[in-house]
Amino acid sequence: MTATDFLNYFEVKIVTLDCPGNCLHRISGGIERNELPLAQSIARDLFRAIHPYLPAAGLAAPQIGINKKVFIFTYDRNPDNFEVVINPVMEPVGEKKIESWEGCLSVLHSKGVKQLAKIARYETIKVTYVNWEGKEVQKLLTGFAAKVFQHELDHLNGIVNILKEGAIVKSFATDSELKAFMAHTKNEDAAFYKKPEEISVKDWATVLKADCSYRARL
Ligand SMILES: [Zn+2]
Repeated sequence: MTATDFLNYFEVKIVTLDCPGNCLHRISGGIERNELPLAQSIARDLFRAIHPYLPAAGLAAPQIGINKKVFIFTYDRNPDNFEVVINPVMEPVGEKKIESWEGCLSVLHSKGVKQLAKIARYETIKVTYVNWEGKEVQKLLTGFAAKVFQHELDHLNGIVNILKEGAIVKSFATDSELKAFMAHTKNEDAAFYKKPEEISVKDWATVLKADCSYRARL
């Protein structure tokens, strides 16, 4: 077995709410310009860790015990559409928020905790991040993509869904009850799958103008 084979077989565990060093409750540090290989190796570990739980939609570095600003997410639960996100920042576009149920692998792996959280998230956000290739991109995310992005970004800020301010937490007595409810929420999410659009600086003027007219109508 080569070193690479060994790494491929090495299981990466998802950490729970009582993780060592409080990793889920700390603010993560940024990735420096010369640290792209580090971010890529964290991303590889995130893919390894999420693999048994697909079609999970996202996973952040603190969930594998690493307090660095890296996460992966997919806008439609299709593993082919995962995007690697490094040093993300977001800005809401408009003030509209949508409430929906969210599961979190770190919560659901915590012993005896069968909880989901209902959270109001911005419907549309403008995001900037460095991707897998090290290129800075700007995208417009709406619907499920925006929800997952905000959930993962919370992880980088030390916030877990069931502990977020304003979250409505629902507890389940059994795994089958939880699974049935999650199947229902996944169906609801599917109505809001929208591919993120890459936006140029020129396009942003139109997006922001549209946003102002939306507010003016209120
Ligand atoms: Zn989570």
